Formats: sequence, C-alpha cells, structure tokens
Amino acid sequence: RLSDRLKVTASYLPEEALFADIGSDHAYLPCYVCQNDGHAKAIAGEVRKGPYESALSTVRQYGLSHAVEVRLGDGLQVLEPAEVNQVVIAGMGGSLIQSILQEGKDKLSSVERIIAQPNIDARNVRRWFSENGYTIIDEQILKENGHIYEVIVADKSADSLYGENDAEKQLLFGPVLLENKTPAFYQKWEQELSNIERIIRQMKQAREQDLDKIKRFEMEADWIKEVLGQ
Ligand code: SAM
Repeated sequence: RLSDRLKVTASYLPEEALFADIGSDHAYLPCYVCQNDGHAKAIAGEVRKGPYESALSTVRQYGLSHAVEVRLGDGLQVLEPAEVNQVVIAGMGGSLIQSILQEGKDKLSSVERIIAQPNIDARNVRRWFSENGYTIIDEQILKENGHIYEVIVADKSADSLYGENDAEKQLLFGPVLLENKTPAFYQKWEQELSNIERIIRQMKQAREQDLDKIKRFEMEADWIKEVLGQ
C-alpha cells in the first residue's frame, strides 16, 4: 500500500504523464502511477547504489520495465533535455530539493509541472519556484504516522501568486495553505512556534548574542502567532 503522502503527491500528475521521480528510493511512486495508468511513463532517478537496486527490483517485481526506467545519477542529471513533462521530488529537505532544481535547470525546458514534497524548509522550494517561472497552483498539508508533510505543486507560467507585501509570509506558510488553514496546518505551526521560542530563549542566554538573528526569529514568531490567531 502506498503512503497517503505519496498518493497525494502522485494525484497531481496528469493522465498519461511522462515524468521523472528524482530520489525515487524504492520507486514506489512511479510504479503505483504506471500500474494505474497504462499510458504513463516514468524515469526513476537515484543517486545511491542501494536505493537504485531497490528501485530496479520493485520495477521488476511489478512487471513494469516497459514503463518505468531506473537511472543511477545525481538529481536531474539523469535526464536528457526535454525528456519529461513533469518532475516529482519527494521526501527530502527543501534545501536539497531547491539545489537539485537549480543545478538541473537546463533539463526543465519541457517541464510543465513540478510536484515537490519537502519534509522541512518548504520555504526554499517556494522561493525557487517564484524566482524561476513556476507558479504554485496548489498545496496540501497532511499528517501521517505522526509526521506533518507538505506537498507543493507548481506549473510553468509567467504569473505570480505572491502579493508584493506578503511575499515573505507566503513563502514561509505557503500561499494556498494560508488561504485554507486545516487542523494539520495549525498543528505544524504550533510546533514550529514552540521550536522558535525555545531557540530565541537559548540565543538570549548565549554569551555572545547575534541580535540580528534574534530579531529575525522574533519577527517570524510574531508572524506565526498572527497566523494562528494568537
Ligand atoms: N522519494 C521517495 C519518497 O518520498 O518516499 C524517497 C525519499 S528518500 C527519504 C530520499 C531519496 O533521495 C534517497 O533514496 C536518496 O538516496 C535520494 N537522493 C538524495 N539526494 C539525491 C540526488 N541529488 N539525486 C538523486 N537522488 C537523491
């Protein structure tokens, strides 16, 4: 059974998708998609040998070698230019997702949709989208096995969803998630607020204080309180 996290991620692929799943590990997501859609095709990229072998074995086990091709390599470098129309990058930190996109920019000319599922630091992914011609068209936040996950979907387009004034807040919270605050959203930001407040207390106790940094964290704590209605 595929996790809800990966099901939600996969639900944003169109029918007959031609996509890459970068950092695919066991290749569960591309196998699920191609098993349910006989016209979908996927490239599963993995940088590490162990997960690459696991991906190969899942694809064989499901009899999907005609639909899912597994490639060993770093990030988007496993792709030829204009080879896929959608890219999935799930289950990593936002900074790593952002750097994979940045380093593989030349492979994105045909990519109409990017579906990212950052475990932390989603802000970095949103910032990359806004600076590189991708507009966030939807976001989801969900809880599974005690973890809260965000899924961010961006399409290639010239428009921007970000209002000038609130750009920083929208990057932090997510423009779509902010519009429709769910219980998981509240839970995530209550946790983040107590983390930030703990960090601020620790920074204030330190012998050498970085006042700029403290101020930045305090500003973020205020944003979170505002969003939580506190
Ligand atoms: N995408 C799957 C998911 O969401 O369940 C697997 C997530 S797993 C935690 C992250 C995977 O990304 C690991 O298998 C790791 O080897 C791979 N990875 C990390 N950096 C990568 C990179 N630069 N290029 C390709 N794969 C990478």
